[in-house]
Amino acid sequence: MNDDFTGCLLVWCGFLNSWVNGIPVKYNLGPSLSSRVDQRAGDRARSTSDRYAPRQTAMRATDVLLFSLLCHVAAGSSAQVNISRMLGQQAERVMALGEWEERWQQDRIGFHQPTVHRMLEKNLDKVLNGRTGVRFFFPLCGKAIDMKWLADQGHSVVGVEISEKGIQQFFEENNMTFSEEPVPEIPGAKVFRQNPEKNISLYQCDLFQFSSSIAGRFGAIWDRGSLVAINPKDREKYAALIVSLMDNDCRYLLDTFLYNPDQYRGPPFFVPDEQVRSLFGSSCNVELLQSVDALTDRQRDWGLDSFMENIHLITLKNSSATK
Ligand code: SAH
Repeated sequence: MNDDFTGCLLVWCGFLNSWVNGIPVKYNLGPSLSSRVDQRAGDRARSTSDRYAPRQTAMRATDVLLFSLLCHVAAGSSAQVNISRMLGQQAERVMALGEWEERWQQDRIGFHQPTVHRMLEKNLDKVLNGRTGVRFFFPLCGKAIDMKWLADQGHSVVGVEISEKGIQQFFEENNMTFSEEPVPEIPGAKVFRQNPEKNISLYQCDLFQFSSSIAGRFGAIWDRGSLVAINPKDREKYAALIVSLMDNDCRYLLDTFLYNPDQYRGPPFFVPDEQVRSLFGSSCNVELLQSVDALTDRQRDWGLDSFMENIHLITLKNSSATK
């Protein structure tokens, strides 16, 4: 994909440079593309070496533009085909809820980080945008320490997590007492609330049973290990749910990963920037804030030789959050 694009860019730049510096430009493109044979070459008495020299042809500006346009279209569609192929690698992969719960039971939770996520820390100002006491939503929250970090700064947090063990560990490991209640709207679900402050509430249920009728809409969302963890076939449904949970001024920070899905089947799954734009672009502004090389031994053990982590800021179109 990159090679195609770079190649095209070089051709484009070459043409543009020549065009800007004087028309006609000369390229050895062979007779089929020639529009005017260079007369000077013909007028000259030809030496043997001249006869075997490559024929110089000249192109009109319109040829140049047409050719460069075709290059762009070809490179663009080839990149598109490649992304679709890469997405196809993981399209059918399904992690059942039971498999996640099993991971928690067996303490196979390598995704959990003992410290605040560095990219949340770095971009928090952009999420808050001057606001205090913001209501944060954490889809697929696990026992992320980021929830306590934000609550300690006066924000409130609502999380959703399927593993009851994960939720209980969050409160216990952070020395918080908590209460437990059923959620009338979702059969079998429970909500765990921090005592006495009650500014952290974690819902134990399938995310796809959650909605704005349960805990309202949110002023911020921190999506780490969530879009990249749900099954790839559920991404459209997920995007619609997340958008429905965004308050008008919501600032949604989304963390995604780029890697070669031929080398690892996930989770976390590969989510290219193009897909982030296609999932959210119709109703939201999407801005890529940061892209870092996040390759560690953990990803090398999965078989990966490259692993990029991207952070996007997503806001509703025409909302006050974009100002
Ligand atoms: N955001 C957390 C956890 C990421 S791993 C962190 O940064 O550490 C994904 C988590 O989502 C796991 O804890 C898993 O148990 C939970 N999970 C996966 N699918 C879910 C679903 N459909 N509903 C609720 N929780 C889910």
